[in-house]
Amino acid sequence: ERIMTLKSVNPATGEAWKIFDEWTPEQTLEAVDAAAGAYASWKETSFARRAECLVSLAGVLKARADEFAGLMAGEMGKPLAFGRAEVLKCAAACEFYAEKGEAMLASEPVSGCGERAYVDFAPLGVVLAVMPWNFPFWQALRVAAPTLMAGNTMVLKHASNVPQCALAIEDAFRESAFPDDVFRTLLIGARQVESVLDHPSVIGVSLTGSEGAGRKVAAAAGARLKKSVMELGGSDPFVVLEDADIAHAAKVGASSRCVNAGQTCIAAKRFIVRDEVYDDFLAALDREMGELKVGDPTADGTIVGPMASTALRAELHDQVGRCVAAGGRILRGGELPEGPGAFYPPTIIADAPFEAEVCREELFGPAALVFRAKDDDEAIRMANDTPFGLGGSVWTGDKDRGLALARRIETGVAVVNGLVRSDPNMPFGGIKNSGFGRELSSFGIREFVNIKSVIVD
Ligand code: NAP
Repeated sequence: ERIMTLKSVNPATGEAWKIFDEWTPEQTLEAVDAAAGAYASWKETSFARRAECLVSLAGVLKARADEFAGLMAGEMGKPLAFGRAEVLKCAAACEFYAEKGEAMLASEPVSGCGERAYVDFAPLGVVLAVMPWNFPFWQALRVAAPTLMAGNTMVLKHASNVPQCALAIEDAFRESAFPDDVFRTLLIGARQVESVLDHPSVIGVSLTGSEGAGRKVAAAAGARLKKSVMELGGSDPFVVLEDADIAHAAKVGASSRCVNAGQTCIAAKRFIVRDEVYDDFLAALDREMGELKVGDPTADGTIVGPMASTALRAELHDQVGRCVAAGGRILRGGELPEGPGAFYPPTIIADAPFEAEVCREELFGPAALVFRAKDDDEAIRMANDTPFGLGGSVWTGDKDRGLALARRIETGVAVVNGLVRSDPNMPFGGIKNSGFGRELSSFGIREFVNIKSVIVD
């Protein structure tokens, strides 16, 4: 079989700067066997010991944040300051589960069944994580921290364009107090995922990525009767009511749409604006997008780096073209810049027909769609008229009105007057084609455990 390579291509320059051969199936099996071997003793460790390991890992992440930010900039174009913040957020998630994980998994006494009864939360084995490149550290660590705290071990199949981030994460584990093989990176392409799922010690898979990858991997897990958690794409609505603080909403909206070069599952993607403030909001959004500094991800002050590859940029540009063909009006951006790299300008498309096929797709880059709504009911109907259901926000001067509308948005996360974000205190995940299962909080740590009834008669 043809050897596949995993490549680090600098998206700011187009230069392929590091190339790895994909592992052979034998190498992969050896690593999964090692994680399975490590499980035998890891599952017996105390919560206190696991917490120490997580705190130690947090220390390594903090100490090496600059180095890891450099890898992200070089492999997927994230500006350094954002990469640093991402690594620190990973450290915080490790500390969060170190502090709170034990209580989340404490045996729960239950009355009314037998003489004594308990619900226990026991580990299960090796969890496979299939992760995307857009937040290369965060996606992997937000799965690892709860999974390992629960007593499972983990193997990571990272996206093929971020092999150095994948190896760096493993290296951070090696440097920390974690025992060997509790966490292993597999340098493999998508084609080896099924054989990893075949391994008897692999008890489930957590995938973050596109809807297409989710369908394939969830089906493969289902065929093997293994559990899956699916964190897939989104097309988050950003609903602006007539009493909103327009300047503030536009500022947060522009940043939500464009940071990480727009490649965020929970970016605001569809701006749905009440008639009364439509023109004001559009003008403010245009101003704010104009303020975002696009450029070299290693330069100070850059907010929007290149997209992760020219292929992804071409896909976005094609979608923008289809929006225009359908009747959308470009207010800013929309043109491929000259020169090397996968840069794409912050782009605004107003008044594309809401029903157009392209408006139902996820735009995974810095291009905002803006639509008009005549009243709150129409705005909510539009917000929900999408195959996705990840996040959404409502902007209004009346918090109670905002809360009532947020509760009507059919997503896993809804925010009033703020950025849709993930926070270890709150569950994170989607409904509809955005996937199923939850990460973070006490819900996330219970995804890959045996919820076990223990009864004494
Ligand atoms: P992707 O192409 O779906 O890749 C994600 C991961 O899945 C990669 O490791 C990829 O491996 C693997 N994969 C793809 N096809 C596969 C298959 N048939 N079998 C097994 N594995 C497969 O997604 P991406 O472009 O990296 O990420 C962007 C997408 O992720 C967007 O849709 C975004 O909204 C979504 N996302 C969701 C969340 C969330 O929490 N809900 C967070 C971030 C991103 P290769 O690289 O080797 O192909």
